[in-house]
Amino acid sequence: MNFNLQRLEGIASNLVKHSVAPKTLKVYTQSYRTYQRLMSQIQRPERPTSSTLMWDNLLLFIAGLNKLGLASSSATTYVAGVRHFLRTELSTVDQRQVSAALKGYLRLAQSPLNQKRPITTGQLALMEQKLQPLLREMEEVWAVIVIGVFGLFRLGEMVPDRPSDFCKMRHPMICDLSWTSNSVGIRLKVTKTDQGARLRQTVSLQCSCPVGFKPCPVCLLRSVSAGNPPPGRSLFVRKGLPVCRPLVIEKIKAWTAGIGLPGSEFSGHSLRRGGATSALIVGLTETETKKLGRWKGDTYLAYQAPPDRVLAALSGKLALAGSIIGD
Ligand SMILES: [Zn+2]
Repeated sequence: MNFNLQRLEGIASNLVKHSVAPKTLKVYTQSYRTYQRLMSQIQRPERPTSSTLMWDNLLLFIAGLNKLGLASSSATTYVAGVRHFLRTELSTVDQRQVSAALKGYLRLAQSPLNQKRPITTGQLALMEQKLQPLLREMEEVWAVIVIGVFGLFRLGEMVPDRPSDFCKMRHPMICDLSWTSNSVGIRLKVTKTDQGARLRQTVSLQCSCPVGFKPCPVCLLRSVSAGNPPPGRSLFVRKGLPVCRPLVIEKIKAWTAGIGLPGSEFSGHSLRRGGATSALIVGLTETETKKLGRWKGDTYLAYQAPPDRVLAALSGKLALAGSIIGD
């Protein structure tokens, strides 16, 4: 491989740039543009080589914001924005630069394009047929996977990373269930990406037995919460401890491999993605899909990964155009 110094420097500064959340980056970029305009007006170099001059620039920028009449809280954000883009200039040896680059690396690596493959409801049915004894042995983990796909859950919304991380504010408990004869509601908790807005939301699952679909998320949930457990118990418990993320991911990989899929290409993301992709396969509308996955915007599009045969069927529809040649 041929490495080029300039190219690597470009990549490094791009990683640092992405170390903050996309929304923050937008605000920071706006702040930096204001800074550029001000420096050009007072004829100062935007990126002076000496860090003393750079600090002077920052001070003049703050003075400029003050003259513009900006609230101090906004000014703080503006300054943070400029510092974000001028880390190198502001400090010659900055340890934080390294950790920011790593953070940006992680954030970019998690972008939708790099997400793992979805587990569709069809694949769940195949696992149910082929891996029956294994699934029964680990019914609690199987329940997390099936309910995750049908409820379009993020794995972190259902189970903790470790038993000691179980938190009644984040993870579902027995008392978060509301049963009717053929359906169940699971109350949603606070999540990392949504601190409280969905607190009152409930994910409703319907028994799929009447339509002959197995595995049924409702019957699985009934089974793992049987025996009158205490209301404050975690929904998914195995051998007296909450089921945790690593075990679920291990089984996602093993069981997808068990039906002939490339197990390493699946992960915790495969559940929510699987629900969204299944919605696409069965032809739910955009509105229905958004409701189901609790999406407000168009993020759901990034979660859908139509299998090749679905795309083939779509392209097959183009042949219909043969009947309207000339139109
Ligand atoms: Zn059922």
